[in-house]
Amino acid sequence: MANSPVSSILDRYPALVIDGALATELERRGCDLNDDLWSARILLGQPEAIRQVHLDYFKAGADCAITASYQATLEGFRKRGLNEREAIALMQKSVQLAIEVRDEFWADPANRAGRAKPFVAASVGPYGAFLADGSEYRGGYGLSEKELMDFHRPRLRALIEAGADMLACETIPSLIEAQAIANALKEFPNTTAWLSFSAGDNKHISEGQPFVDCVAQLTDRPQVAAIGINCTSPKYIPSLIREAKRVTEKPILVYPNSGETYNAARNDWKGDPVVDSFGEQAKEWYDAGARLIGGCCRTTPEDIRVIASWARDRN
Ligand SMILES: [Zn+2]
Repeated sequence: MANSPVSSILDRYPALVIDGALATELERRGCDLNDDLWSARILLGQPEAIRQVHLDYFKAGADCAITASYQATLEGFRKRGLNEREAIALMQKSVQLAIEVRDEFWADPANRAGRAKPFVAASVGPYGAFLADGSEYRGGYGLSEKELMDFHRPRLRALIEAGADMLACETIPSLIEAQAIANALKEFPNTTAWLSFSAGDNKHISEGQPFVDCVAQLTDRPQVAAIGINCTSPKYIPSLIREAKRVTEKPILVYPNSGETYNAARNDWKGDPVVDSFGEQAKEWYDAGARLIGGCCRTTPEDIRVIASWARDRN
């Protein structure tokens, strides 16, 4: 069975620190992501900005970098006039960038104290992210499992061949898409992945299936290194972790968003007032049983720094 960077870190430390947002962090730093390709657009024009965000998350204590390939797909790049070879090169660039930053970071002995060597998790966004209409939070694509496998396969191959340490299959809204990805993964038997859903409430993934059923369907697959939830309000997270714990021994990962929601009409974010800081709230997720913990949209290197400050010696 393929060895996963997840188990090699969790064998040594009580928790694994995932990084925080990439796209919204780039925006906060002044990048214009007003584009269907989202952070993949920055890969084309401002790769230095992506390097800096990855570096800042490693400095904050992240054990992994999730690459800027969430919205990078053959179809999406084709619409921008790139041919297949160029599109694949760009997806692979997202992985190469993260590997270079990781290697530079790790080359400095001062960065190694008390932590494991970080790994590169290549982001695999859902079909809904390619549609760029918010359907990664709804599902209901009307596609068969085979059609979804055909959609995902070329990007999985490109990211694996670029040297990613594992795949981060994230913001999945439906069980059928998770199964399609898990089945496509069997064609790459030396690769492991985490599978992470978006959730609509404290028991169900976005398309409506009970999260506990999704976890039960995936728990016996040897290439699935961890199962969890991302880009979901923190208020649902403790309950979702407990649901997963009922049916799996696999590590559970959570990297919720900041809890705010985007209002397209007003072009701003608003939402629940945050009682505790994100990084302090995350202790509750550890206590509920999550072992891979980080942040999704609107989280920052500061949030990850707070998580890293307690996660490696929690008991
Ligand atoms: Zn997100």
